[in-house]
Amino acid sequence: MKQSQLFTKTRKEAPSDETSKNAQLLIKAGFINKELAGVYSYLPLGLRVIQKIKNIVNDEMNKLGSSEILMSTIQGKEIWEITNRWDDKQVDVWFKSQLKSGNEIGFGWSHEEPITNMMKGHINSYNDLPRFVHQFQNKLRNEVRAKSGIMRCREFIMKDMYSYCATEKEHMDFYNKTTEAYLNVYRKVGLGDITFVTSASGGVFTDKFSHEFQTICDAGEDIIYVSNDNKVALNEEIFNDETVAKMGYKKEDFEAKKAAEVGNIFTFGTKKCEELGLFFHDKGGVKQPVYLGSYGIGVTRLVGVLAEVFSDDRGLVWPKEVSPFHVHLVRLGVNEKTVEFADKLYLDLQKAGVEVLYDDRDLRPGEKFADSDLIGIPVRFVVSDKTVEQNMVEVKHRTKADAELLRVEDAISALK
Ligand code: ATP
Ligand code: MG
Repeated sequence: MKQSQLFTKTRKEAPSDETSKNAQLLIKAGFINKELAGVYSYLPLGLRVIQKIKNIVNDEMNKLGSSEILMSTIQGKEIWEITNRWDDKQVDVWFKSQLKSGNEIGFGWSHEEPITNMMKGHINSYNDLPRFVHQFQNKLRNEVRAKSGIMRCREFIMKDMYSYCATEKEHMDFYNKTTEAYLNVYRKVGLGDITFVTSASGGVFTDKFSHEFQTICDAGEDIIYVSNDNKVALNEEIFNDETVAKMGYKKEDFEAKKAAEVGNIFTFGTKKCEELGLFFHDKGGVKQPVYLGSYGIGVTRLVGVLAEVFSDDRGLVWPKEVSPFHVHLVRLGVNEKTVEFADKLYLDLQKAGVEVLYDDRDLRPGEKFADSDLIGIPVRFVVSDKTVEQNMVEVKHRTKADAELLRVEDAISALK
């Protein structure tokens, strides 16, 4: 993409009411736009990061055998009344509205009820199980606090997956496979070393336990306890003598850390399917309830966590796998030869399958470099009158202080 065609402008200052580092950086670099507190739009660069994360997540979900769907945001209240989750006293994040007819509707903060209800038309016998579905969907939640930038929003993208299984064993096997798939996701986006499977209580609606995926991060809203051997992590709410003893540890073996919940997996057992009337006929023709699991990843929260973790005083520092582009090609000077050289390099890089942001604007070098650092693409290629004279390109990594002069072929092959 040519930067001259990118409509977004970088800015020196974030809005004064924006206190979180992730949103400040992402706004300054032109990745997002703030609409309201806790409500953000995604601009070309931000959307590319989201696409990268989605692709990584989608691959892992497909490998688990899940099919992608897209449920509606508007939901009827009746199914939620059946499970006692319509009442604002039970679920305090509902956004609700009314149809012209006066009928109440809700905006999806989660989808267990509508998906399970829909599945009644597709699951009847043991032959129809197991079934796994997932979606990337804008969830709406009327959050009380929205001070963590895009890490806690009133509208945000979640990947939610749901599993329908015939037996407890099938259900738990899938739950455990999903845990591994989630760890793959966090590793691939660059957060593997600091993301922990964290045991937590199941909350009021689910079975006895749940697992959170918590990334160590100062801007996180949670406290987790990580064992000194890095093998066990516990959510604050279940960190007590009894639980740690069960796991063969003492409380002193743990350290408290601030963390952001980037994913959460729950088992509902057979309770929700029983409530909503999702049953199957087993081999003997006997009617049995279905096991439900629910698995969320905060896609846009992940973007925020990445911005928090991978940034410095000059701006964002994207890991390659989630960077909006692989290479930032920066042209300095407007000499005909230089422009020609840079234009050709832009094409050659694309031919080699490299995603390039090409700064073809006629601005001062200082401005271009400041923008480039702020946007944070991992590799920068600089083409100037001087480098063209030598038939070279200057290559600089965002995380390194020094640049090196390379021949174009060497610079391109070094990317692989
Ligand atoms: P939290 O504990 O942070 O309020 P939750 O437990 O209510 O989140 P889930 O319903 O399990 O969240 O949603 C799945 C994932 O969606 C979470 O693990 C988190 O990464 C993300 N998420 C939840 N709420 C928000 C929000 N308000 N803004 C952005 N992402 C969110
Ligand atoms: Mg949670």
